[in-house]
Amino acid sequence: MKTHTWRSQARCQGIDPEIFYPAADEDADEAKSICSNCNVRLACLEYALAVRERDGVWGGATERERRRILRQRRRTA
Ligand code: SF4
Repeated sequence: MKTHTWRSQARCQGIDPEIFYPAADEDADEAKSICSNCNVRLACLEYALAVRERDGVWGGATERERRRILRQRRRTA
């Protein structure tokens, strides 16, 4: 299987990438709303968590939100 096959179904394809790199979490609403209608949201989120992606909105989560998810998973592991 090709890696990252989910990318071909990404709803953000062709959309201005700047939307996904907001200056602050508070400006991430537009990106989050696109992600919420994306068929590969979970694959995208898991990828970003796995590679510890630092910047941008991935799978509907900002960098700060992804750090929180990782902390919660460590606690419940
Ligand atoms: S979840 Fe969001 S960032 Fe990830 S592929 Fe879908 S639209 Fe793009």
